[in-house]
Amino acid sequence: MLLPAGLSITDEEQWVRRMLDRLAAKEQRRRPSDDDLLERASELSVRYLGGKANPSSVRWVDNQQHRWGSCTPDHGTIRISTRLRGMPSWVVDYVIMHELVHLLVPSHGPRFWALVEKYPKAERARGFLEGFSMAANGTAEEC
Ligand SMILES: [Zn+2]
Repeated sequence: MLLPAGLSITDEEQWVRRMLDRLAAKEQRRRPSDDDLLERASELSVRYLGGKANPSSVRWVDNQQHRWGSCTPDHGTIRISTRLRGMPSWVVDYVIMHELVHLLVPSHGPRFWALVEKYPKAERARGFLEGFSMAANGTAEEC
């Protein structure tokens, strides 16, 4: 970090605080909250699934080391792995979309994939996650 020359100590502290605030705001944008996830899920459902998938909750969980996302169709709850935090939003959206479709179709059959493919970047996101998993631990994983 390069401090502008000629700042007094107080100015310097304020400047540093401002930079930290700005960084925190930036970080916040890259780390959507649980509420943000639910809002994204509703948008995706309306846009690609005719609003048929209605999750009751979508939240981040950090105990999911082997799956990107999971859901409980009976309760309409979706859980997204915190490992996705910081990944591009279109990748996070894909995982949300995948779980939304699971609320409608439990298994990975042709009907499931036909619905998932309504999300235009589905194929690209799957490639991204596969590549990420391979690089990280040598196994591809998907819910
Ligand atoms: Zn799945």
